[in-house]
Amino acid sequence: MGHSNQGSELARQLRDLYSSGMPIFRIGLIESRDSIEFRLSGRFSVLNDQGIAILKDVTSNVKWRVKIEQRQPSKYTYSIVLGQFQARQEAHELEYNLIEKGIGTRITTRGGKLYYKDRIVNDNTQFWVIVDRLASEEEAQTFANERLSEFSNHVIKEKINEPHALIELFDSEYEKLGETENVIRIVPESYEVITYIYDSILDNEIQSRMPKYRMFSGPLEFRSTNDGRVIIICEMPLEKYVESVVALEMKSEFPIEIIKAQAIAVRSKIIASLGIKHHEDPYNLCSGAHCQIFNGLTQTSGRVLKAVQETIGIVLRDNRQVIDANYSLICGGHTEAYHSIFDEDSKEPYPPIFDGSGKDQKEAYRDLTRDDNLKKWVREEPDVYCNLSNTQSSNVINYIRGQFRWQISYDRQELEEIISTKTCSNIGIIYDIIPIRRGVSGRILELEILASNQNLILNGEWNIRQTLTNDGLSSSCFYIERQFDDDGFPIAFTFYGAGTGHGVGLCQVGGLVMALRGTNYVEILTHYFKGIKLKKIY
Ligand SMILES: [Zn+2]
Ligand SMILES: [Zn+2]
Repeated sequence: MGHSNQGSELARQLRDLYSSGMPIFRIGLIESRDSIEFRLSGRFSVLNDQGIAILKDVTSNVKWRVKIEQRQPSKYTYSIVLGQFQARQEAHELEYNLIEKGIGTRITTRGGKLYYKDRIVNDNTQFWVIVDRLASEEEAQTFANERLSEFSNHVIKEKINEPHALIELFDSEYEKLGETENVIRIVPESYEVITYIYDSILDNEIQSRMPKYRMFSGPLEFRSTNDGRVIIICEMPLEKYVESVVALEMKSEFPIEIIKAQAIAVRSKIIASLGIKHHEDPYNLCSGAHCQIFNGLTQTSGRVLKAVQETIGIVLRDNRQVIDANYSLICGGHTEAYHSIFDEDSKEPYPPIFDGSGKDQKEAYRDLTRDDNLKKWVREEPDVYCNLSNTQSSNVINYIRGQFRWQISYDRQELEEIISTKTCSNIGIIYDIIPIRRGVSGRILELEILASNQNLILNGEWNIRQTLTNDGLSSSCFYIERQFDDDGFPIAFTFYGAGTGHGVGLCQVGGLVMALRGTNYVEILTHYFKGIKLKKIY
């Protein structure tokens, strides 16, 4: 069979990495299911949460199934975060400031240190100033609005107790093989053994080119989630995970310099989020766009492996720590500011940039937050790296042509239906769609829809992209033109847009074009992450 060979090659690579002392990460894979099916290609044992084997040295060719029974979700309190600081002193200053106003706070530590061979290779400890524990989200929001409006703040959920559930294990004949509390660990005899996870929902969520199963190697854990359902967690060494993510992001025909740049961005992003994202979850990273998209073991090309190996341990750092190095497909000509997309309160880890070398162009379109400049920018196609019109046609780039500038048209009624469905509210007749605030790349961050039943404000580029089409707009960097009937009512809307994705950090197509022109990975990365240094930390 085709994939078992492929699997054993992957397993060999994984085993090599496991023996190198590389940090192991826990990745949350498929969340919130009631049951999950799986099959293993070789011998394995099943352990409970104490690490005691409930089944030993089993081989089985059929699919097995885990199912959650007797669930008891976690309980939460809601707290308000008023600041996230790298230095404890800064957190204390805010705390004193709040005490003077009669507001009690506590400081909690988030993030953490990453060790490699007993040495600290990164420390992304943060000190969060937090107010109170409130019983409900509404209560927290009201408190924030009434007492804390002069500070920037956001509400977070904190777990009071662990979820509890009984997890049952069945074979394909529905015969019960065992049960444990909260956790079932599947531990294959060796890394050559591949675990296949089957998921019917994969069909809809992930592009159809993905198979209906995902492959993993090494220990897997089935565990009850905080909402009392089941999640799979896989444990992987950092560099193996980098390989899998890079293989999804980059085509094997790309020049190696852009693949190296991508590998360094991926590695940096993983390390920078350690302990900060998913603090309340039983894993370090999720497998969706929130962290980085990961679909299990993938067939990695020789060039991807080479790019990862030749940059092993290299990360992007400011003078203190590894940075959250983001990337998206096409910036459109100017990258977006980190804080407009990810975290309004954070310091900018790297500035947004003009994605070209010509200085004149930059002057001509200086302020893309203004509608008139943005319109000109989208129409006139500036000479920037991700504009492929000056790059020779080739198989490497042809599939991404036509995404640097794009347009999409809707009948008014069609758009009304989409927006009403997406927002679960009947907005009525749309009169107008108005950008209220744009980021430096021209991406709309806040937008108002004027309609007969209600006016609607959409906040955040992701939300805007998701609400205005069935399958997501390429980006929120667009302007809108309306067509009217004789009575002056709009009958159609056309969106003229630039780029795809959030536009923060590395522009993958811009970097690809730079690499095709002979630029190396260091120059590519220092173009997109200005002021940031590359450093080999292990
Ligand atoms: Zn995540
Ligand atoms: Zn670009």
